[in-house]
Amino acid sequence: MPGAVEFSKRGAIGVITVKNPPVNALSGAVRTGLGEAVAQGLADDEVKAMVLLGDGRTFIAGADIREFGKPPQGTPFPEVLGAMENSSKLIVAAIHGTALGGGLETALCCHYRFAAPSAAVGLPEVKLGLLPGAGGTQRLPRLIGVEKALNLIVSGDFVPAARAKDMGVVDEIGDDLLDGAIAYAEKLVAEGAELRKIRDLPCEADPAVFENYRKGMARRARGFLAPWKCVDCVEAAATLPFDEGLAKERELFQDCVTSPESAAQRHVFFSEREVAKIPDVPKDTPMKEIKKVAMIGAGTMGGGIAMNFANAGIPVQMLEVSEEALEKGMSIIQRNYQATVNKGRLAQDKMDQRMAQFTTTTDYADIADADLVIEAVFEEMDLKKKVFATLDEAVNDEAILASNTSTLNIDEMASVTKRPEKVIGMHFFSPANVMRLLEVVRGSASSPETIATAMGMGRKVGKISVLVGNCFGFVGNRMLHGYTGEGSFLLEEGGLPQQVDKAVFDFGLPMGPFQMGDMAGLDIGWRVRKARAAERPSNEPYGGTIADRICELGRYGQKTGGGYYDYKEGDRTPIPNAEVEEIINQVSKEKGIQRQELSDEEVVKRCLYPLINIGAQILDEGMALRPSDIDIIYINGYGFPAYRGGPMHWADAIGLDNVLADLKRFHAEVGERWRPAPLLEKLVAEGKTFADLQAG
Ligand code: NAD
Repeated sequence: MPGAVEFSKRGAIGVITVKNPPVNALSGAVRTGLGEAVAQGLADDEVKAMVLLGDGRTFIAGADIREFGKPPQGTPFPEVLGAMENSSKLIVAAIHGTALGGGLETALCCHYRFAAPSAAVGLPEVKLGLLPGAGGTQRLPRLIGVEKALNLIVSGDFVPAARAKDMGVVDEIGDDLLDGAIAYAEKLVAEGAELRKIRDLPCEADPAVFENYRKGMARRARGFLAPWKCVDCVEAAATLPFDEGLAKERELFQDCVTSPESAAQRHVFFSEREVAKIPDVPKDTPMKEIKKVAMIGAGTMGGGIAMNFANAGIPVQMLEVSEEALEKGMSIIQRNYQATVNKGRLAQDKMDQRMAQFTTTTDYADIADADLVIEAVFEEMDLKKKVFATLDEAVNDEAILASNTSTLNIDEMASVTKRPEKVIGMHFFSPANVMRLLEVVRGSASSPETIATAMGMGRKVGKISVLVGNCFGFVGNRMLHGYTGEGSFLLEEGGLPQQVDKAVFDFGLPMGPFQMGDMAGLDIGWRVRKARAAERPSNEPYGGTIADRICELGRYGQKTGGGYYDYKEGDRTPIPNAEVEEIINQVSKEKGIQRQELSDEEVVKRCLYPLINIGAQILDEGMALRPSDIDIIYINGYGFPAYRGGPMHWADAIGLDNVLADLKRFHAEVGERWRPAPLLEKLVAEGKTFADLQAG
């Protein structure tokens, strides 16, 4: 592409402008153009120094990640960077917008960096399971020191210009980008400033720094590959000559780029962008403006959900059954904010602003002017229908009425209103002020405007909105049911809570099903099982016996000091309990089950393959738009490890034929609930993957 980089002159300063809209990504043409422009500047005797900047809204924003894995085109990047760094005339990078990844690595090969106040820099490669592979891990520690470089490279975070200057990444900040950078370059020339080649700067560190850093990140980076390789690279910068360090970086970059972890993380990256696309609700569908939100119920979920709106500066009115309930709900909200302030993560005046967004009432007349109402009362259909009928009468006809139900039928709630097209599910996850996932549940009558508004509102308050269909448990909880249910059967067959939980934890989830049960409380499920006992089909095995017995002892989980495990006061560490083990053995005996040793591999398959099988059923029924939406739900709502890409990507990585073979074995050995989903059978027969399904 001609003209990807232009060279011009302003007095004695050569100006190199990258013109590759929209974000000046480092394409082959840009790399070649950069090399040529530097050569032109060097060949021109009038030119004393050069300024490098990006045209349009940003400096070089980074590599074009879609180029990964394709045959290289244009001048190799290291060659261009070497030519810049070794230039005998000094080069100033003039940064505006964002200089990320390869963009910042390019700026690090300039001799000085000038930035607009609104600019940001960063090396976000780690978020894609990669590491900065063009010298970033070798130059940054030389420029700003090992510890600061580790923080920047391992977190992948963006740093605003002012902080970048404090850290030493940027030398000068100024308003007028081109004029400012030219003046800065002229000043450097006039002062006879040295050609500061970062590669020649010393880099030293106490070896203990790396040991401590690795220890500190162990929990956060568990299971990921790239963060560890990033630390290895920075360690190489501190221990090896520059060129050997570069070679090491290249080698470790190759390890990352070919790793399943990076493939999974890149899948997640693209899937997060895909999730907003809804075939029959185009991007330009009008969204209703939401100036006021009303929350029905100020309990666990109501309070958490409301905080999201207050945080985004949207007034929210809480409606409850009594003043006492309102007071209780508001005091929890207040306490949550206060805890964040106490940790130094929120300024007191910001907290005050957020608290000022709340009003409270027990009277539906007060919420007549709300634009969006979200119901979060108890999970009982009759109660929810009563609330929806009241809302339909009390709230203006244009308002959207949403339910935060975890499982119940949205259409049934819509049926008691005269505006079913404005009724929708907005299923937040607990704690709702923290968890990123929002399942937007489409009712059969939900209009495109209602869907677009709910999805858009979710995004506005920082959630990742995923559209799902209206079936029991929707997508996430429907799949979860298969996972937790299978865990219970494993106890009867020979497993113990600590073994099953450890296998699932080692796979990468934050905790296994029994620790999760103890945390959520076992009494809720017990109540549901008792209420549904009469409807339970007699020909299906019942997996709740052990949990029922544990509940009969008053062991409801952490809140009662014990459930599947014991807990010490104020400590969430699970301690195996002999009485529970006794119950487990007893139940196996009563059911005539010969307890068997289960391998960890088998435990993982038995617990997690239901996610794949039910996920396939959900896709077949159209309850999720695409396999990657399911992955996004599981990563953001249930702690499925991002480095495995979500259950559907994981299934593709294992090979659907292998998954199907195991499902068939379980179906034969364990029972009907393991019948393989027809879609899975079909994909295997056609030699396809879930990813193929997505590609159409
Ligand atoms: P909760 O018991 O903590 O809160 C329910 C609140 O609703 C209580 O404060 C109660 O006083 C109030 N309420 C009851 N009837 C009311 C009425 N007629 N008008 C106004 N307020 C009324 O329950 P929760 O955990 O917040 O769950 C609420 C909803 O959110 C349920 O539908 C639940 O399934 C769903 N949900 C819960 C979770 C979770 O993890 N807790 C997650 C996602 C969704």
